[in-house]
Amino acid sequence: MKSRPKGMPSEENFEFKEEELPNLQEGQLLLKSLYVSVDPYMRGRMSDAKSYVAPYNLNEPIAGGVVAEVVESRHEKYQRGAVVLGNLPWQTYSISDGKGLSPLDPDLGPLSYHLGILGMPGMTAYCGLLYIGEPKEGETVVVSGAAGAVGTVVGQIAKLKGCRVVGIAGSDDKTAYLKNELGFDEAINYKTTSNMREALAAACPDGVDVYFDNVGGEISDAVYSLLNKFARIAVCGQIALYNATSVPTGPRVEPILLKKSALMKGFIVSDYAARFPEAATEMVSWLKAGKLQYEEHIVEGFDQLPQAFFGLFRGENTGKLLVKVADFNTN
Ligand code: NDP
Repeated sequence: MKSRPKGMPSEENFEFKEEELPNLQEGQLLLKSLYVSVDPYMRGRMSDAKSYVAPYNLNEPIAGGVVAEVVESRHEKYQRGAVVLGNLPWQTYSISDGKGLSPLDPDLGPLSYHLGILGMPGMTAYCGLLYIGEPKEGETVVVSGAAGAVGTVVGQIAKLKGCRVVGIAGSDDKTAYLKNELGFDEAINYKTTSNMREALAAACPDGVDVYFDNVGGEISDAVYSLLNKFARIAVCGQIALYNATSVPTGPRVEPILLKKSALMKGFIVSDYAARFPEAATEMVSWLKAGKLQYEEHIVEGFDQLPQAFFGLFRGENTGKLLVKVADFNTN
């Protein structure tokens, strides 16, 4: 990262550098990046504002979820040919001492799924919806950012729980996908809808019991006006505000929460780390039983990383956006 973005990030915030890696020392592994995840939270880390994770340093690689192959090992736990998941730098190859890496089980699903439905975004959807939203059969669940990595999973789990599910997304292709492929009851294209409140009221004739918020801003303002008594709001993401250059304002939400005895709770997926094993077991079983569909938007090539990342803010992806850097086991 060459400079910190102001507003929407651009190519000028990034720089590609080629460097020789040092020889492996005892206890180290050489990793070849196979799939690199691009995620909205990375925009927050590109700024130097205090947050729940430290900012990225200037003139150092961005780091995040990477699925990598062990191509050389001087580490007792890992053999050449193993595949691992780690929080690793945006590099084609990297050296690790093994700390923070988890070996991946290829039987659970395709390797890339560990950056999506079987990884952090999947856990986010599961934990935020079920532990905060607590959807009950017959209730209405609204999810914003519905066609993305988290949103697609949230809506499908809500359907599995017997809810009416309404998704909000940014194109007609996405809303058609949500309804026709994923079984959402209704989907609204916020980019072509002039009155979101009216459109939501029509899609949610019994009001809103659970709102899974991935985007914030005016979309959320419209949802708040339709909350039912005892509604639950899981505040997962605020991507509509991540590139804001001034303090966003909106209606005050407290009177609504008060009058509706509603719960609004922000969360970071790692808050639920203790529950990941149970969540992962259920997600794998749903996936294997064909009860969850999963879409990936895979961009090819390490040099495409910045553009792929910008794609998150341009809404280019349906499902999980990630970059394929290399094939497994080709050296
Ligand atoms: P997505 O796959 O959903 O990709 C981002 C999507 O956001 C885009 O495809 C775009 O879709 C939508 N979007 C972009 N800009 C705007 C905007 N201005 N207004 C409305 N929608 C916009 O990303 P993820 O599924 O990985 O993440 C979804 C949200 O969840 C993010 O806010 C992220 O920060 C958050 N998150 C939170 C976690 C936590 O621990 N709390 C963990 C993981 C994710 P469209 O075409 O619909 O506009």
